[in-house]
Parts: sequence; C-alpha cells; structure tokens
Amino acid sequence: MSKPDHALPGEPHVARRDGQLWMEGASLQALAREHGTPLFAYSRQWMLDALAAYQRGFAGRDALVCYAMKANSSLGILNVFAQAGCGFDIVSGGELERALAVGADPAKIIFSGVGKTRAEMRQALSASIGCFNVESEEELDVLNEVALAQGQRAKVSIRINPDVDPKTHPYISTGLKGNKFGIAHSRALHAYRHAASLPGLDVKGIDCHIGSQITETAPYLDAMERVLDLVESIEAAGIPLSHIDFGGGLGIDYNGDTPPAADDLWRQLLARLDARGFGDRKLIIEPGRSLVGNAGVCVTEVLFTKPGEDRNFCIVDAAMNDLPRPAMYQAFHRIEAVDANREGAPLRYDVVGPVCESGDWIGRDRDLNVRAGDLLAVLSAGAYCMSMASNYNTRNRAAEVLVGGEKATLIRKRETIADQLRSESVGD
Ligand SMILES: *Cc1c(COP(=O)(O)O)cnc(C)c1O
Repeated sequence: MSKPDHALPGEPHVARRDGQLWMEGASLQALAREHGTPLFAYSRQWMLDALAAYQRGFAGRDALVCYAMKANSSLGILNVFAQAGCGFDIVSGGELERALAVGADPAKIIFSGVGKTRAEMRQALSASIGCFNVESEEELDVLNEVALAQGQRAKVSIRINPDVDPKTHPYISTGLKGNKFGIAHSRALHAYRHAASLPGLDVKGIDCHIGSQITETAPYLDAMERVLDLVESIEAAGIPLSHIDFGGGLGIDYNGDTPPAADDLWRQLLARLDARGFGDRKLIIEPGRSLVGNAGVCVTEVLFTKPGEDRNFCIVDAAMNDLPRPAMYQAFHRIEAVDANREGAPLRYDVVGPVCESGDWIGRDRDLNVRAGDLLAVLSAGAYCMSMASNYNTRNRAAEVLVGGEKATLIRKRETIADQLRSESVGD
C-alpha cells in the first residue's frame, strides 16, 4: 500500500513518496545514481517562491531585490535570479564576473564589503555598477581617487553600523559596535559630509546589514529607526539620499526556526517607513540565505557505520569541506535517510565526514536507521555550503544539479584531481 506524500517541515519541495525522498519531480536516489555523491540538488521552484514572497511585500513600490550571491554563487543559481529580474549584491571582483557571466544588469549590481581593492574598484567602475556600499572613511578617499583617474563618478551609499543586536550567532552578527562592518552611527554624518565633498563620488543612498539567520522582526525595526534617524540628519545637512538599503539577513527554518515570512516582515517595515514619511524612497534589500537556503539538499552516501562505547559514528562521503556550517558555526542541518523503508530500529549516530579533523561533523546525536551504502540527505544546504566549499584534504568539490519539475540539470560537474592540480607546479 502506498503511503501518502508528505513534504518535510521547512522544505515544501522535498517530500517523501512511498518512503523515498523526492525534490519536486525528481527522485534523490535516481539523481545520486546518475551524478554520484556528494551531490547538491536545488529546487528552482523553492527559490522562485522565496523571491515571490519579497516581491509581494514590495508590491507597488520602487524596490530592488539584490540577491547576496555569496550565499550560493553557482552560475546555475545566479541565472535563475537574473532571469527573474533580480539585482545582485557582490563582495568581490570575482562575484562581479559571475554576475556579468549570467547577463545581470550592471545597474542592478551593488558592491558591498570592507576590503575592496583598487583593482576591484576599477573593474566595477568599468562595468558601470549601480552602487558601491562603502564601509570606511578611507575607502571613500580611495574610491574617489580611482574614479577620478578613470574619469568617472562612483555612485555610493555608506554602510552604517546601527549598533543593534540581531540575536543570532556571534559570527554572523554584523551590526554591533564591535564588528568590523560599516561606519559607526556616531561618525555617519561626518562621513556623509566628507563623501559629498569628493568630486569623484555621487552620494546616492544609505545602507545597513545587521547580521544573518535573523528570526525576529524587532532587530529589523530597531535598525530601521536608527537608519531613518540618520537619513533625517544627513538630509538636514543638505545631502539628499535617493535610496535606502536595509541589507539581508532574514533567517530560514533549519530546525523548527520560525523566522517571519518575507512579505509579513516587509509589510511591517514599510508601514513604519511610511509612518515616518520615507515611503517615497527607492528601497534596496540584499537577501542571500532566505532566497536559497531551504532550496538545497546535499545527498551523501554512508561509507561505514562504526558503533562505539560512547557514541556511534555514521561516516559519510560528504565532509566539512562540502558542508562547512556545522564546523564553523556549530550550525544544525536536519539529516534524513533518503530511503525510509529500511526495517529495524534506528541507532543514535554522530554523522561525520572523512576529513582528518575532530571538527568534521555534520550532525550530532541523530537517530538513523542506515547501513553502509545507504544515502542520507542533509537538508537546508542551499546557502553557505557550496559557496564556502574547499579542497581541504585534496577533496574534489561536489557536483550540483538544478531541479525544475521532473527535470534535473547538471549545473556544476564534479571537480577532478586534474582541476585541482592544474595551477600548481613542483617548483625548481
Ligand atoms: C552576507 C550579506 C548579505 C546576505 O545575508 P543573508 O543572511 O544571507 O541574507 C547581505 N548584505 C551584506 C552586506 C552581506 O555581507
């Protein structure tokens, strides 16, 4: 008898049918058989639905969603967002090349980051990007020089550190006083006066980004109030701002997390913006994780199970080089057997990779009914996994497929050792 389909919590595009996991109309087992493991699979529909929630929130407004591509910068993913009309938030010259490679409109590209090099500034000016989000007073001076040398004016926004606590992991909070990001609220007016005096700069807006995996509305409202206070004082000093950029940071459901829905969040924020008389400004946002995080799963094969006195280990072929978030932030990813039909009782395992580090774990204390050769799906692996993947232990980076209905397209071939060795030599 057939069991009913049921979508996994937080992952509406991953469902069990007859005990097997499917993403949209594609069986994860079949994808793993065809492409090998570890394999990242992404649901196009989940990404488009996530984007649509923001677009509903901004209906009728002059607003631009710039996908923060560091969350997942694979060309196949960028292409989905470029085709849907998104702009891009980039943090390096390399990311600029990726955005241009998928035909992104340069006017919709904004360049964030605390350490832009002169070469990156030149490259972005030559591409005529929409805006530089400047993060220090020295950067204003250097950008001014570089722009004048190219006979251009750089459009700029200054990233303000609003000093609000996003209530997330310390490594992913960016809007507190002790962070390296942005210019302190108390220095902002001074920095704007300076920027306005530089002939190579064209002051366009203001921005902030307070952190990542934010699951509450209050930090956004607090940051908005702080930013709007500044907009008032900057404009009172005779420097008009045509856009306000509220950054990204909205969280996703990793483990029963309940972030506000993007449309609800923005309805509340826009009501506040209108109430303070700034409803006419162009809005920019920079979501990353919330546009791709729950779209992706990483399918991995169990290599060995190793029962122990203290704990049992389930050793899989994905590792911290593929899925760095647990090692970096003690992050949690749900892990599910791809085939839930196995008879017998589950055992409690630490799911670990083959890398020679004790920090190489993917999940702790997970009840799984698995044997060597079985497949596991690591969920919510769309953001900050592949884009952070490394070659540590000379492991090849995984393959990636983009799923749309029943069709799955290979968007990244599995890396080879030849790829890894190509740029090296033994020296003299
Ligand atoms: C990383 C980053 C984002 C995106 O953050 P998410 O938490 O992935 O939404 C947006 N803006 C800036 C400046 C960033 O550094």
